[in-house]
Amino acid sequence: MEDLNCKSVQALLWDEGKDVAFGMGESSVDAHLSGCRECSRDRAEIRSMQTGLRSLPKKAISPLLATRLQVIAFARAFASGSPAERESPLCRY
Ligand SMILES: [Zn+2]
Repeated sequence: MEDLNCKSVQALLWDEGKDVAFGMGESSVDAHLSGCRECSRDRAEIRSMQTGLRSLPKKAISPLLATRLQVIAFARAFASGSPAERESPLCRY
């Protein structure tokens, strides 16, 4: 059995949104989400952000959302330890 904590579940949620296959069973993620209100809410937020990013023109992203995404991108780049991602995570937008 995988021991999923909130941090790993949320990382998986982002990967899932990027259509990246992950080795961990979705059922264990779902099991965590059904028992964790925080992660469940985060999934809804991530989904809506990702949907918004796909459907909205780039300039329609609100400053607040852009700031929040930048913080998340920095945190993820830092966590992944990738130097390339660490410099300007938002430059591709
Ligand atoms: Zn959780």
